[in-house]
Amino acid sequence: MSVEKTEVLVVGGGQAGIAMSEHLGKAGIPHIVLEKGRIAERWRSARWDSLVANGPAWHDRFPNMEFKADPDAFVGKEAVADYFVDYVKQIKCPIREGVEVTALTRNADAPGFMAETSAGKIEARYVVAATGPFQVPVIPAVVPAGTGITQMHSTAYRNPAQLPEGAVLVVGAGSSGAQIADELLRAGRKVYLSVGPHDRPPRRYRNRDFVWWLGVLGLWDKSAPPEGKEHVTIAVSGAYGGATVDFRNFASRGMILVGRTESFSNGKIQFADDLARNIADGDANYLSVLDEADAFVKRNNLDLPEEPGARTFGPSSPCIDNPIRELDLAAAGIRTIIWATGFATDYGWLKVDAFDSKGKPRHQRGVSTEPGVYFLGLPWLSRRGSTFIWGVWHDAKYIADHISTQKTYLIYNDWADRRR
Ligand SMILES: Cc1cc2nc3c(=O)[nH]c(=O)nc-3n(C[C@H](O)[C@H](O)[C@H](O)COP(=O)(O)OP(=O)(O)OC[C@H]3O[C@@H](n4cnc5c(N)ncnc54)[C@H](O)[C@@H]3O)c2cc1C
Repeated sequence: MSVEKTEVLVVGGGQAGIAMSEHLGKAGIPHIVLEKGRIAERWRSARWDSLVANGPAWHDRFPNMEFKADPDAFVGKEAVADYFVDYVKQIKCPIREGVEVTALTRNADAPGFMAETSAGKIEARYVVAATGPFQVPVIPAVVPAGTGITQMHSTAYRNPAQLPEGAVLVVGAGSSGAQIADELLRAGRKVYLSVGPHDRPPRRYRNRDFVWWLGVLGLWDKSAPPEGKEHVTIAVSGAYGGATVDFRNFASRGMILVGRTESFSNGKIQFADDLARNIADGDANYLSVLDEADAFVKRNNLDLPEEPGARTFGPSSPCIDNPIRELDLAAAGIRTIIWATGFATDYGWLKVDAFDSKGKPRHQRGVSTEPGVYFLGLPWLSRRGSTFIWGVWHDAKYIADHISTQKTYLIYNDWADRRR
């Protein structure tokens, strides 16, 4: 069977792969994008039904195409996927859907790499792994199977009607956990929410969305999480028109907040004694954004309305003041646990020396230590915004530029050879 050849093979046809294609195309670099599912598959099949973008349409997009929506609206997940389908057409992205890369190895006796795919072999000089920041759902080994409790990861959650009757424990209070818990509460479920360390910026302050504030304050561009905050998740929501995630408000509406989920024995689940601290730290993060925003307004003499009420928190609740440390799941009527506990990566197909001892890609701004290999879309690849739609576009530009530069050396080499 003949082997197809290209210059750059991009693996993954989500926003990262598509952004990569746009910049490679602009640089005139031949490439192919392979996607094992459909374009932006994870927006379609790895998210719950009611999910809307966490950022408004004017912000959570690529620079060269607007959403067909009110710029201040939070568009639904299907519309996000449709946007990328339209984008593929706009840039004439050479994407092939339904083609999985099963293995990629460095050629032994020729430059570049050989990819084994579900549709044959492809040889490429460079490879960009754009297979996502959130690939493999992680469920901590706390509650064993066989307890009669339905357990699922947030990627498997679709809507309240899908769950067995009864109370639900949601573990994780990042954007996914907070939004799913809120949806279940609104659907009339009894909800327990296990709250770990989190940031919770104000949705809007002084007439501007938090995405604007994080932008002008340079917080999206931070190159690494602050020391000790590596595992702090961000709790934001565009649901129901967008509102600040406020755990006190959840509790006042009947949600039972508990600390970080720690262990399980004899039908009982144990929670850490950290609820009050996690809420206080979340509040401190919220207030720090207000402080920085106020200072920015003053420094730049902006005419944005003051909002002193934003500093007033709602009342506490008994579940916060006297947190439950141990819960008998059966007695509490909990029939379902939803683990909104994050993701791992799986680069089993990428058989090159580009990983550290923990299996994490070794790279700088996506340029791997293994020449010719690139990673795109990973958390903090170059900055806080790297996993976001608009952020990955800029990271892709950097990688395309790097590939262009590498190609310049090859072109010079050919030229120098001919001169000899
Ligand atoms: C619940 C949730 C909400 C989010 N909301 C927002 C938001 O509002 N705004 C925002 O900017 N970001 C948001 N994000 C973050 C980010 O935008 C998404 O995670 C996005 O899907 C990442 O895009 P990606 O292209 O990097 O990866 P993915 O979308 O994961 O795309 C990778 C693609 O690679 C394919 N693939 C994997 N392995 C192979 C293989 N071996 N061969 C071929 N194809 C392969 C997969 O099928 C997949 O389609 C959200 C994330 C989550 C989890």
